[in-house]
Amino acid sequence: MNIDKIRHLIRGKVYLDPESRRDVATDFGRILVKTPKALVAPASVEDVATVLAAASREGWPVSTRGASHSQSGQSLSQDGILLDLSPLNGIGAPEGGTVKVQAGVLWRDLVAFTSERGLLPPVLTNNLNVTVGGTLSMAGIGVSSHRHGTQAHQVLELEVVTGEGHRVRCSPEENSELFFCTLCGLGQFSVIVSARLRLRRVAPRVRTFYLLYDDLGALMADQRQLLSRERFDYIESWASPCVQGLRRMGGVRVPFAEWFFPMHLTVEFGDEEPREADLLNGLSFYRKLQVEDSGVLEFAHRLDPVFELWKQSGAWGMSHPWMETVLPWDQAPAYIGGVLANFPPQLLAGGHVLIWPCRFQGDALPLFRHPPGEFILGFGILPAVPRQMLPLARQLLKTASDLSMRVGGKRYLSGWVEFTPEQWKSHFGETWEDLLRWKRFYDPAGIMNPGFIPYPDRSESSD
Ligand SMILES: Cc1cc2nc3c(=O)[nH]c(=O)nc-3n(C[C@H](O)[C@H](O)[C@H](O)COP(=O)(O)OP(=O)(O)OC[C@H]3O[C@@H](n4cnc5c(N)ncnc54)[C@H](O)[C@@H]3O)c2cc1C
Repeated sequence: MNIDKIRHLIRGKVYLDPESRRDVATDFGRILVKTPKALVAPASVEDVATVLAAASREGWPVSTRGASHSQSGQSLSQDGILLDLSPLNGIGAPEGGTVKVQAGVLWRDLVAFTSERGLLPPVLTNNLNVTVGGTLSMAGIGVSSHRHGTQAHQVLELEVVTGEGHRVRCSPEENSELFFCTLCGLGQFSVIVSARLRLRRVAPRVRTFYLLYDDLGALMADQRQLLSRERFDYIESWASPCVQGLRRMGGVRVPFAEWFFPMHLTVEFGDEEPREADLLNGLSFYRKLQVEDSGVLEFAHRLDPVFELWKQSGAWGMSHPWMETVLPWDQAPAYIGGVLANFPPQLLAGGHVLIWPCRFQGDALPLFRHPPGEFILGFGILPAVPRQMLPLARQLLKTASDLSMRVGGKRYLSGWVEFTPEQWKSHFGETWEDLLRWKRFYDPAGIMNPGFIPYPDRSESSD
């Protein structure tokens, strides 16, 4: 296999030197190291098509990389081609409430561009330094998802390159199967090169109410009410430990915490002031801590200072075996209560625990896996762990992950995933057979993003 040949086929840059390849050998997880044979920075969509066509003929593995903020090596390549989409970063002019962007665009840049025109994408992730292609391949969940679904739900049309190098335009109306398996498809069936996205006109300012709960049941009861009444544009909540010292468990003394639950509720406004009495009416919080106004753009960037602190403290460079799961609403209280009761709070230094309430009305994305039912609850334990504590963290988070699947939860696949082949099958459920069929059809040589999903041996699978 002579991957170097790719240099002569494309206009873009091909890096074969050890230093360039080492620079892209790990991701935000900082757990796995996988070094590609070649790092390819395409100069055009044509380059992407040429790379995939050649790779499919020659049997070269190709992994796609956005900003590499996933954590299980989804955007890494061992001994193959790593296709870095970041050079494809063009943004078109907004048109009829939509915008066409290339896949390597950072959400940060798109937000800067559209907010100047009073528009924003309806859903933004907490971290804006990730690419459009990277989040559309996962789903892209945000604090407005209870209203608008995921970022993948905002896509009207895609241009993709399939595993054999075919450039295809797809949408719910045209080549719809390819459209629906590409969104949340982890780069397994095609590379997204551009997307037409929905935009939303936003009010210039937001008001945020900082509420605190001392009881998960009370938090969830209020969230259920908020989801049904749609009073707020943005809902975000966390579990936050108040460390209580040590207690005896199974003969040893271990640290434990009492957990509190902050919830920030945010509403957009223009000339008319939001009416606090109406907005908070009927809620049973333990305390209201403060009320704060900011610009809508500042709100989109509200977590930048947190990430900056993680960088300054060294937490950003540690290992991140993040475990996010989407739970059936009714199972969530017992599951979360049990997991938090046994979670050593010191493992959360430089990280946090997210609680993300959501309501889904209608669902069109087969690969965005979530429990059935209108109301669901996302739960994520997102620690930064020094190397020596990684085995303990992995063991605790694997237990939490397995348990969430046993109560009907579905993992969000950007985090640290250690599934058995049976768990992969059960994660995709009734879509598993479709997924195998899409893989055979759109990536017949099996070259795209290998090493994450364990496909059955092709010689054993029937068509
Ligand atoms: C601090 C932090 C905060 C986060 N907050 C959120 C949040 O609020 N909501 C949320 O949903 N997620 C969140 N995430 C997770 C993050 O959004 C996902 O991991 C996302 O996939 C990262 O985008 P990326 O550009 O880094 O993609 P990468 O990690 O580079 O790639 C992710 C996957 O997409 C594939 N891929 C990348 N580009 C393409 C393409 N053009 N075509 C096809 N496949 C492609 C890759 O092969 C890989 O499988 C957060 C992560 C971090 C580190």
